[in-house]
Amino acid sequence: MELTECPPAIASLKRELARRNIELDYCDTGTAARNLVLSRLPAGATVMNGGSATLEQIGVLDALRTGPYEYPRPKIYLINDPVKRLAARRNASIADYFVGGINAITSAGEIVNSDGSGNRIAAYAFGAGKLILVAGINKIVPDLGAAFERMRNVAARDECRHLGVDTPCALTGNCDNASCRGPQRQCGKVLIIENEKVSGRICVVLIGEELGY
Ligand code: SF4
Repeated sequence: MELTECPPAIASLKRELARRNIELDYCDTGTAARNLVLSRLPAGATVMNGGSATLEQIGVLDALRTGPYEYPRPKIYLINDPVKRLAARRNASIADYFVGGINAITSAGEIVNSDGSGNRIAAYAFGAGKLILVAGINKIVPDLGAAFERMRNVAARDECRHLGVDTPCALTGNCDNASCRGPQRQCGKVLIIENEKVSGRICVVLIGEELGY
């Protein structure tokens, strides 16, 4: 499908990611991004997603639920046995295709994500056959310091509030890393993707809108 020409700042990020063996495609709207993501998913493939407000907002998750894919997430929700459910979640992290969001991406192309349990970033790091990461332009930050700031004081905080847990960030609006321990913490595991060895494995779909958190 035809892609939108990148604005200059995005073209620079595309070059930086290319040096890291990561593709970037730019779409000016969420609808265009949804169509691009779906065009990359072959019918019949096993496709899993990581939790992502952006994917929900642009309609990718609805398409996975109704499309011609082997999509394990709805089945996992129906498993009551905790041992079987954990096994199914582990298996889903090695899906043929995995789509997910980004907590922050630096101008130099470092991709930063955190997780509570780590299933999403396990797929990001190695498990998934191909990885498609979708993000609005609001996820672009100048450097790793700003990426960690955003990851905790925006992304993890809003995820904690979404889940209704009483972590310090959810209660006060600000991260208190030193006092935040226990199973409610949503950013206990952190992944920085600096480089990809396998050509064509990772594609970032950047959208010219503010999306997600
Ligand atoms: S360490 Fe705790 S308080 Fe800080 S962002 Fe993560 S979940 Fe929130």
